[in-house]
Amino acid sequence: MTKIDTFADMVRHSDNIVFFGGAGVSTESGIPDFRSVDGLYNQKYKYPPETILSHTFYVEHPEEFYRFYRDKMLCLDAKPNEAHIKLAELERAGKLKAIITQNIDGLHQMAGSKNVLELHGSVHRNYCQRCHKLFDAEYILHSTGIPTCDACGGPIKPDVVLYEEGLDNDVIEQALYYISHADMLIIGGTSLVVYPAAGLVRYYNGHKLVVINKSSTDMDSSADLVINESIGKVFSHVVLP
Ligand code: ZN
Repeated sequence: MTKIDTFADMVRHSDNIVFFGGAGVSTESGIPDFRSVDGLYNQKYKYPPETILSHTFYVEHPEEFYRFYRDKMLCLDAKPNEAHIKLAELERAGKLKAIITQNIDGLHQMAGSKNVLELHGSVHRNYCQRCHKLFDAEYILHSTGIPTCDACGGPIKPDVVLYEEGLDNDVIEQALYYISHADMLIIGGTSLVVYPAAGLVRYYNGHKLVVINKSSTDMDSSADLVINESIGKVFSHVVLP
């Protein structure tokens, strides 16, 4: 039996699956991972992505922040891949209870998933910092300079967790609940280097911990199954009854 067959078999026999995903889930939909070697480094920006995507930079250089953000973070033409689609099917079949994601692109919801815990927020929610009016990603994409509210003129900030900013406590608590109660935990497309998000997976108590990532991760030694393959390819082998 191949590792992918073993994985498909574990999914078949589980009805309380939780998926924890990172950038690798989205790169297969064409969204760049700025942490990867061939990601966003060495491009046309004076600062590294981690600097531009920090709270301090956003406050001090909002125009430069938005230039990068519109160019690199708003990938509104991306479409869900086989992993997103199969995860949504598993939820509809009652087998998957939650998706916890580090991604901000909304592709899981586009694929039809309902219970998606977005640790780092979403590019699809943007709020006026003065009156709190909500704007979609298209509004930001089609604005210039610093986007402003069409109701009050206040500056708009994406509901995305920037470096130096804390994660939402409600989202963390829900994520802990689902992970600690899960029968099967699938960690996909993340090298688990981003804390505190990566520390969450240590709350899993079961014995069906699967890591699917193209390269090795810190969780490999604790995992029951490690698959170093494309996540879309692995999920394409999951067959629903
Ligand atoms: Zn406003």
